Amino acid sequence: MNKKACRKCRKIIEEVEVNEKGKEESVKVCPVCESTNFTTFWKGSALVVNPEKSEIGKAMDVTVPGKYALRLSR
Ligand SMILES: [Zn+2]
Repeated sequence: MNKKACRKCRKIIEEVEVNEKGKEESVKVCPVCESTNFTTFWKGSALVVNPEKSEIGKAMDVTVPGKYALRLSR
């Protein structure tokens, strides 16, 4: 499955999600910050499980657990 990263908060999400009807739908809005600006080019990723206690989470300003891109390429 292809993934993309939010340009604003750097959250990595699936390009396509299966909706409640079992149909594939492209994800257009970031579930974290509601941005609609994504990139498929990034370098490295970090899994933030506990944002309040995680050094990476603090450094990256993450408030919602999940996988985040470390550096966006474009
Ligand atoms: Zn976002």
